[in-house]
Amino acid sequence: MSNLLNTLFFLLIVLPLNKSEDSCPNCGSNRFTKNGSIHNKKPKYSCLDCGRQFVKHSTKIWISQQQKELIDKLLH
Ligand SMILES: [Zn+2]
Repeated sequence: MSNLLNTLFFLLIVLPLNKSEDSCPNCGSNRFTKNGSIHNKKPKYSCLDCGRQFVKHSTKIWISQQQKELIDKLLH
């Protein structure tokens, strides 16, 4: 059971911190600027600290919903 709780805490706390949509996926900086867009019209961003170019992903929302359902099942 403790292993399960550790996994839950990892999913709830560590992953969202690492996958924040408002930070550079390479260095974690939140100093970035919009820099054009890619082929499917998604805005592209350029990190001001490390120069990495990236697009924001919407998978975090899906993961968060999965996490909520999982927690509800296990704790209630
Ligand atoms: Zn960066």
